[in-house]
Amino acid sequence: MIIRKSMAELEKMRRSGLLVAQILSELRGMVKEGVTTYDLEVTAEKMMQDAGAKSAFKGYYSAAANAKFPNVLCTSVNCEIIHGMPSKKRVLKTGDLLSVDTAVSLEGYYADSATTIAVGAITPEDEKLLKVTQEALELAIEKAQPGNRLFDISGSVENHVVRNGFSVVREFVGHGIGTSMHEEPQVPNYVDRNGENPRLKPGMVLAIEPMVNAGSPDCHVLSDKWTAVTKDGRNSAHFEHTVAITENGPWVLTRPSSSRP
Ligand code: MG
Ligand code: MG
Repeated sequence: MIIRKSMAELEKMRRSGLLVAQILSELRGMVKEGVTTYDLEVTAEKMMQDAGAKSAFKGYYSAAANAKFPNVLCTSVNCEIIHGMPSKKRVLKTGDLLSVDTAVSLEGYYADSATTIAVGAITPEDEKLLKVTQEALELAIEKAQPGNRLFDISGSVENHVVRNGFSVVREFVGHGIGTSMHEEPQVPNYVDRNGENPRLKPGMVLAIEPMVNAGSPDCHVLSDKWTAVTKDGRNSAHFEHTVAITENGPWVLTRPSSSRP
């Protein structure tokens, strides 16, 4: 069942969204050669504590891993797609592509966002990978309108990525979000011919999150049971926003400059 939110609930999710945006912006400013992904984790956790927010990730139970996620951030470097774990041993170096994903709740309402950051100068191909993934997210957000269907979002991501010679990950998808981090519906980054394609209605909130591989779409999970990596070892990028569908169009709850439509 897809749970639609009232405007009062969207305002609560907006508060969480602004905090997530503030955290990602702070981390973006910290990223440079020599910084560890653990340094980012410490800063993010402190910001959550100071704001009285609960991390959506820390303590999150995964049946596949049969464990609780130990961190407030996912930090995924280069061929790591998502769910990478912050570590004192992971020292960033020039040329790395770092995806940072985080989610919080305030008063029980969640917001989830991710961005991929270049560490210093990166290759032209990686520049293109970042640009195309970001563009795919923007195109998808434009489709988050009442009257459209879910696969208008999925198809716009898939088309843009494939047209540019990259591939979308199929094993992991976006999701509805609200009083839980993961609600219905699933939001694939491709048109799933066998999947549900509901009509989009005001009050639905979707975490739209293109995960784009430079090479093949295939991935596997490392022995840590969490980190998803590309099978071919080529790089991957990930951008995500929490987007509310309103009568007047999309409201990007995790983007400070997006005002209530
Ligand atoms: Mg996320
Ligand atoms: Mg998400």
